[in-house]
Amino acid sequence: MQVINPATEEVVATVELTSVEETDAAIARAQAALPAWRAVAPGDRARLLRRFADAVDADLEHLARLEVTNSGHTLGNARWEAGNVRDVLHFYAAAPERLHGKQIPVPGGVNVTFHEPLGVVGIIVPWNFPMPIAAWGFAPALAAGNTVVLKPAELTPLTALRLAELAREAGIPADVFQVLPGEGPVVGQRFVTHPAVRKVVFTGSTAVGKRIMAGCAEQVKRVTLELGGKSANIVFADADLEKAAATAPYGVFDNAGQDCCARSRILVQSTVYDRFLELLEPAVKGVVVGDPAAEGTEMGPLISARQRERVTSYLSDDTPVAFRGEAPDGPGFWFPPTVVTPTSLTDPLVTEEIFGPVVAVVPFTDEADAVRLANDTEYGLSGSIWTSDVGRAFRVSRAVEAGNLSVNSHSSVRYWTPFGGFKQSGLGRELGPDALDAFTEVKNVFLSTEGGEG
Ligand code: NAD
Repeated sequence: MQVINPATEEVVATVELTSVEETDAAIARAQAALPAWRAVAPGDRARLLRRFADAVDADLEHLARLEVTNSGHTLGNARWEAGNVRDVLHFYAAAPERLHGKQIPVPGGVNVTFHEPLGVVGIIVPWNFPMPIAAWGFAPALAAGNTVVLKPAELTPLTALRLAELAREAGIPADVFQVLPGEGPVVGQRFVTHPAVRKVVFTGSTAVGKRIMAGCAEQVKRVTLELGGKSANIVFADADLEKAAATAPYGVFDNAGQDCCARSRILVQSTVYDRFLELLEPAVKGVVVGDPAAEGTEMGPLISARQRERVTSYLSDDTPVAFRGEAPDGPGFWFPPTVVTPTSLTDPLVTEEIFGPVVAVVPFTDEADAVRLANDTEYGLSGSIWTSDVGRAFRVSRAVEAGNLSVNSHSSVRYWTPFGGFKQSGLGRELGPDALDAFTEVKNVFLSTEGGEG
């Protein structure tokens, strides 16, 4: 398959697609590699993961530029993403030596628990953040003693393939971590149906996620789902309005809005609604859109012509566009940062995940109204709350049905802490120490101490 640079529309590589037969062979190799990988002493497994992290660090600029070329990510973002892979590997490198079970007091014997690896783990990755999302799966999976087969998205296979090379250079056996570029319904679907794959980690659209979950149910296969979002950025009248408006574009237009955590609904208290829009306009028009490989660019192109058509389909001549930023002409799948002010709460601009640089600004009356609007969605991934009232910050944080909230910030991902969605945004959590539970089974062993003299 041809890999296209979305900023230039040039072919940058050609990648061989994996067939079902090749997928089966890779799964068989991953299964055969399990006993030896499980048997690696915890300290040695930790050292291998750290060497993998060091190899990523040494290759960071190359990985970042590869991502810029393949995905149109800005250089700044792509460097962060490669750095995130390194950090996540270091974080989970601490795990093999700390997978402690419990000794539980019971009558008649000794009872201990073990955290056993699941076996072969299949990871299915979307195109919007190819590197970090891959690492959030493979790092804890490998740390816990599983072997991994990973399918990158059709459009963005290059950095995943490079990560597999770096893993091998670091000494991780080739069959322990395999990257299989290919099509979702072929390779991804085989992860779901193959009985030797004991867990599927899927990040992508809610529509495909539902099918994956139904397929996994056939074998009671473990599944983690990270799906779509329509997150709210709630701005109260008592907030630092200048800061809230200046940062709002980065909460939604990062990665050209192709971010599951994009705050694509800005809910603003009606008393400051007009003022907020006045402040937002220069911030949006100031977003530097252009060549993603240039230092200082803040927003690149969309991933594909198809994605641009999809985003464009949400806008018509009647759409109440408040204002837009700039976007280059010519080759590349460009779309300008766009702010809309729909009047109906059932408008698809307010309800659907657009996955492009389009944000709807909606007024609310009071705190209860803000919470009601924020929760008026099938999704529940992220959100921001802007207020200077600490009590309100926590009241609203507790009331909003979403997995990752930030107060006076748009930060969503911190690898030390759990990440995942409520409602149709997903199932399970990635990152943080708890994610290890998703890659192990608890085994309980009872040993009788009955007997003895007399
Ligand atoms: P997608 O669902 O089309 O594809 C995701 C992956 O699934 C790709 O690798 C694809 O090849 C594969 N796939 C497609 N059909 C399949 C099938 N039948 N069986 C198995 N695998 C299949 O999603 P996308 O367009 O690549 O990514 C965008 C979506 O991902 C958005 O909805 C976004 O919100 C979501 N996303 C969520 C998170 C999160 O953490 N919650 C993070 C990033 C992206």
